[in-house]
Amino acid sequence: MRRPGFQPGSDAGRPPAPTDLALPVIGAKLLTAADGTMARVADLPADTRWVPLGTLDGVPAWATELATADGTRGRTRGWASLAAEVPEPLATLAGRALAVITWRRTHRWCGACRAELIDQPGETARRCPDCGLYVPMQLSAAVLVAITRPGPAGRVDELLLVRHATGPTGLWALVAGFVEAGETLEAAVHREVGEEVGLGVAELAYFGSQPWAISGPGVLLAGFTARAADPHAEPVVDGRELTEARWFALDALPAELPPAYSISRWLIDATGTAAQR
Ligand SMILES: [Zn+2]
Repeated sequence: MRRPGFQPGSDAGRPPAPTDLALPVIGAKLLTAADGTMARVADLPADTRWVPLGTLDGVPAWATELATADGTRGRTRGWASLAAEVPEPLATLAGRALAVITWRRTHRWCGACRAELIDQPGETARRCPDCGLYVPMQLSAAVLVAITRPGPAGRVDELLLVRHATGPTGLWALVAGFVEAGETLEAAVHREVGEEVGLGVAELAYFGSQPWAISGPGVLLAGFTARAADPHAEPVVDGRELTEARWFALDALPAELPPAYSISRWLIDATGTAAQR
């Protein structure tokens, strides 16, 4: 059955066909056709070693690692630039190509006995032929949260936005952070909010998730909404990780918001829409 959208997979059940989708990875960038569309298997040399990624609208997709773009026609692009232009399933597929190829490059040797790992057929995993260590590709989970509080009497709710000391420093973003081992997603939200802005939150509710290819390979973002536990509390930033944190009225948000393809933006937009009802 042809399933619509992107379906991740590690076993195509057949060798690559010339018209299958091809996602060559060069460093942290993807190679697309010159017009920005996805390349096809036939566009690359016949001896290319392909790694199965899954299917997009039923068409198998394959990744490969190239040392340089020399000898291939096309454009090399970062995930953010691609995700800003293409439909969401294609952005997700491109993110998986980057994640799988980066994981293969950084998990070549056994971490226990230093032997060279071999592929585990049908899985995104490797195994050590000497000591048997099983090395699946692992995801890092991160959380982000849209915290709101009541506005002044008669005014709309306010949303907490923060500016980071590194990365896109001009952007007003949401409180976010990686989940620690042994921690639930919800506990990670409470801890990050406490650490980053010194606030408590209530009414924590799950919003949705997004595979995210910018922060590193294999990051899964889980988004939440919450209310400020104390509507009068002001955020306090540490000045190291964050440079600024402010409450913004939902009808007067700043222009410098996260990009339209990010769950940060989906959360901010959904929070604003909910406030207008
Ligand atoms: Zn080993």
